[in-house]
Amino acid sequence: MCGIVAYTGDQPAKGILIEGLKRLEYRGYDSSGIFIANGAPYLARAVGKVAELEHQVWNSAPEGVAGIAHTRWATHGKPSVLNAHPHGDCTGKLFLVHNGIIENYLLLKKRLLEAGHQFKSETDTEVLTHLVEAHYAGDLQAAVQKALLQVQGTFGIAVMHISQPHTVVVARRGSPIILGIGEKASLAASDASALAQHTDQVVFLEDNEMASLTPGKFSITTLDNRSVSRGTTNLDWNIESMDCGSFPHYMLKEIFEQPESVENALRGRVNHSEAVAKLGGLESVQERLLNARHLIIVSCGTSYYAGLYGRYVFETLTDLTVETELASEFRYRKLNLRQGTVVLAISQSGETADTLAALREAKRKGALVLGLVNVVGSTIARETHAGIYSHAGIEVGVASTKSFTSQLTILTLMALLIGRSRDLSYEEGHEIIRALELVPDQIREILKQAGKIRDLAEKYCHSDHFFFVGRKFQYPIALEGALKLKEIAYIHSEGYAAGEMKHGPIALIDPKFPTLALALEDGSYERVVSNMQEIRAREGKIIAITTEGNTKLGNLVDDVVYIPRTHEAVAPLLTVVPLQLFAYYCGVLLGRDVDKPRNLAKSVTVE
Ligand code: GLU
Repeated sequence: MCGIVAYTGDQPAKGILIEGLKRLEYRGYDSSGIFIANGAPYLARAVGKVAELEHQVWNSAPEGVAGIAHTRWATHGKPSVLNAHPHGDCTGKLFLVHNGIIENYLLLKKRLLEAGHQFKSETDTEVLTHLVEAHYAGDLQAAVQKALLQVQGTFGIAVMHISQPHTVVVARRGSPIILGIGEKASLAASDASALAQHTDQVVFLEDNEMASLTPGKFSITTLDNRSVSRGTTNLDWNIESMDCGSFPHYMLKEIFEQPESVENALRGRVNHSEAVAKLGGLESVQERLLNARHLIIVSCGTSYYAGLYGRYVFETLTDLTVETELASEFRYRKLNLRQGTVVLAISQSGETADTLAALREAKRKGALVLGLVNVVGSTIARETHAGIYSHAGIEVGVASTKSFTSQLTILTLMALLIGRSRDLSYEEGHEIIRALELVPDQIREILKQAGKIRDLAEKYCHSDHFFFVGRKFQYPIALEGALKLKEIAYIHSEGYAAGEMKHGPIALIDPKFPTLALALEDGSYERVVSNMQEIRAREGKIIAITTEGNTKLGNLVDDVVYIPRTHEAVAPLLTVVPLQLFAYYCGVLLGRDVDKPRNLAKSVTVE
């Protein structure tokens, strides 16, 4: 959600900043802007794609070697040129970009208006610009620091003043800022993907810290002005994975990467001789973990559905009691974080504000807090006691696909680890491992059916509504399938536990309201089939996802997709793949922007 790039060095800044913004496009935004400080100061802003801004910049920007740039995801004031960042002060000398929300902006704005400041936008951000201006007396860093002490809310910011044209000041609270330090240049960005092609030496700014950047140099202090000494760390990042290659969209590329991403999630994490998982990231808390009694999983969106899957897999393989809670609701629950409670936060980006707030709450209350995140070095990764990276590789498509299957893989490994220290037998453990190791090839088999799934999308994509139903392990997949179709194709779709249909939703079924049923030949097969009969009796169309070789569905269904036979706990890693493809092709056929669906952001950094 929204992005910042800043550069100060010896190269023309405009190309570097625009390129950086393009790397951040996947996060979701509605407008963008750029300020170049040295030479003749230059400001450009545009609504819509970064390409709009780029067009203006190439035509008019000077060759200055330092600047700041931003993609905005509007929270205060509509997307417009005037509301786009950077925001300038009254003197036209100071410019600022901001991610986050200034909660006390109305009060601050009132005071600033009384002091004579003139506002040009409706944003909360502009208040911050004028506040820094009010404190400015020749030292930008000191002014930013004083201003931020008056601010409530969240921010990642980058600020420049034309009187110090080679200095960029950045700061963060609740919204990430990463520094990239090269030999003759320094950069900062809200996401490492905007830095990766310039340097692999990065510094993660912590909450309530600020930094001053000059070419090739940086210094960090806390917001209360204590100096911080921190070296750079090496960013292990494969830049090639950030291009679409031969695929028309990142989403399709990422769906097709799942055989490898699941392999990566498993790599080095299985001990065959003892039929157990080896999770290095959890070793430091192993004793507390293996003695845990209760597990609470907190997450949002697709990660929440991974968490719901986690509930079934932990309950099946271990004797833990498990709850899965939406991170945004966690604080309103009175969950008993008694002795032996572990809280597991799941987030692709590791920056999800709701999940971060939930884990901080759990930490305050004394729980052991673990993270399952994809982005290395992200805030959740750093604030949890211990955790596991999903190693899915960079995921650019806004709608999560490969991260989800990686999350399911790791949750199964975690359950195996704990289960094997309790009642789970060697044979049962081994069966899970064998099933997991077959998944990459089984996904390859499913992907060969992409053409068939495209045909199904063609047949059904003009439906206004859709149900997805499943039971037990397939229930979270029904929810995820429905979410994908909403996100990507903007088709109204609902996921239900199959047994729930008759308690209400079935009232909606008619020949124009199709249902996708997850009907594998597992322990709940007969019951799912009964639920499908009920739908059929109301003339509802049915697409079934079932087990290869199942010939019993006959004319109960209109269409069938087969998936290879596997362990029921591992099957979700397979059944979700046709659902991702179905959503993708529906989106493409309906002309949607599948990699950047409207109103959505990749990493949701506001609560
Ligand atoms: N709250 C600010 C605005 O609406 C920043 C939004 C963002 O994070 O992009 O302009």
